[in-house]
Amino acid sequence: MTIFKSFINGEWIEASSGRTLRNLNPADTTDIIGEAQLCTREDARRAIEAAYAAFKEWKNTPAPARGRILTLAARLMEQHKEELAQLLTREEGKTIGEARGEVQRATNVVEFCAGETRRMNGEYIPSELRDNYAYTIKEPHGVVGLITPWNFPIAIPAWKIAPALAAGNTIVFKPASNTPATAVRLVELFVEAGVPKGVLNLVIGSGGEVGDEIVNHPAVRAVSFTGSSEIGFKMYQEVAKRGIPFQAEMGGKNPVVIMPDCDLDLAVEHTAAGAFGSTGQRCTATSRAIVVGSIAEPFIEKIVERAKAYRLGPGVDESSEIGPSVDESQFNTVLKYMDIGREDGATLICGGGRASGEGLENGYFVEPTVFDHVTPDMRIAREEIFGPVLGIMRVDSFEEAMEVANDCEYGLSSSIFSNDYNTITQFINEIESGMTHVNSPTTGGEAHIPFGGIKATGIGPREQGSTALDFYTELKVVYVDHTGRKREGNLY
Ligand code: NAP
Repeated sequence: MTIFKSFINGEWIEASSGRTLRNLNPADTTDIIGEAQLCTREDARRAIEAAYAAFKEWKNTPAPARGRILTLAARLMEQHKEELAQLLTREEGKTIGEARGEVQRATNVVEFCAGETRRMNGEYIPSELRDNYAYTIKEPHGVVGLITPWNFPIAIPAWKIAPALAAGNTIVFKPASNTPATAVRLVELFVEAGVPKGVLNLVIGSGGEVGDEIVNHPAVRAVSFTGSSEIGFKMYQEVAKRGIPFQAEMGGKNPVVIMPDCDLDLAVEHTAAGAFGSTGQRCTATSRAIVVGSIAEPFIEKIVERAKAYRLGPGVDESSEIGPSVDESQFNTVLKYMDIGREDGATLICGGGRASGEGLENGYFVEPTVFDHVTPDMRIAREEIFGPVLGIMRVDSFEEAMEVANDCEYGLSSSIFSNDYNTITQFINEIESGMTHVNSPTTGGEAHIPFGGIKATGIGPREQGSTALDFYTELKVVYVDHTGRKREGNLY
């Protein structure tokens, strides 16, 4: 049996609780990937202390030297791309194509952050005082806590670890409990690339215990979290007590607006990809299709046809297009929302239950599901499901579509399908989301482009792109006076 251990102060350690959590392949639960040893608060404290002790030396390591380690880590990730992708598919369930895409995205982010270490410029500012000047320096916070979800268990840790290291912070990283294998392998590659002892610590354990310790420990000077809004907002209240920087990327309920003038086939293909791809387990998944006027009937007919055509199966099978839900709990949540949709009066027009068929017997497979006549007050229109479930919301006008689209607590991603420049421009101006797409799916992003949401989705600076290091640095302002002159009266 493979045992997944935590990495503290440069060593793979035995967790002190003696408790383990079994890690199962969600496409076939008879396939046991291994067992994760679960850390305690005490283990988490040791990791925080190790990170604290390693901070000064890492901070004083020249940024390009830190970047060199990131470059090597990116190369190792590239070399091990297929191995990482296979492990990711086995552990999280997404298809092998999606897994390869995730590993590539993670590699790109690490590479991008390596480059940023040569650009950590401050600003020279002339003073109001004669012969004086000021400048700014970007400095790391110290120990940062990184808490991540299971749905992108390589990319999300990578897009937090890389900028945190680039900026000179030391790390205590807590992955989701159900994806320890990918977390261990990712940390191994960073260590192989040369990250020094104590700089990157991995603590596997429950959110309520290990996560809570990281969030509340006084030596942790910033926390970056990705996960549900429920947990993120609770965490925000905790860290606020210490007044430390907090970044959270949380849930989504992402709309597409389908205009009558759009390219119908394109709109159908991209809406389906956004709704059903990655089994709907993306924060940017399309969950509401707001269909304007007469295009409703042909759009619905085609999207149902598309949904029924998907090939479900284990992600390792190259021909599978949709994998399983990540675990039993998520699987039951998705099925529960299918019941809620029916009870609330939406019309089920496709899917609606557990998927059956050859090769699906031992996995958490759910049918791609479409509900019609979803109204804004229904729970399936308001709450994140995190499964392959699309709600069709029929409206009469663009104005009504915007009202419905924005009537939502989340604000992560969105999309419009139209060929009218003015409609598209108005949509971009009015939509309440951190990211928006034109004639393309609500999903996706690129390593050099900022990523994140507004409203109940996002707190703090955006991750990735030009903003990637914003959260991980403090600005120090330095006033310099070499004149030796006493200051008198006015500054001028
Ligand atoms: P989650 O249940 O909120 O868990 C996220 C992480 O927080 C896990 O590591 C979890 O540990 C930990 N945690 C749980 N309770 C905690 C506590 N009291 N204190 C400290 N840490 C705690 O989310 P999830 O189910 O893993 O992920 C799905 C969610 O992530 C969805 O809502 C999705 O939209 C969101 N997401 C957002 C983005 C984005 O960029 N906006 C990207 C991806 C995913 P355990 O695993 O041990 O419970």
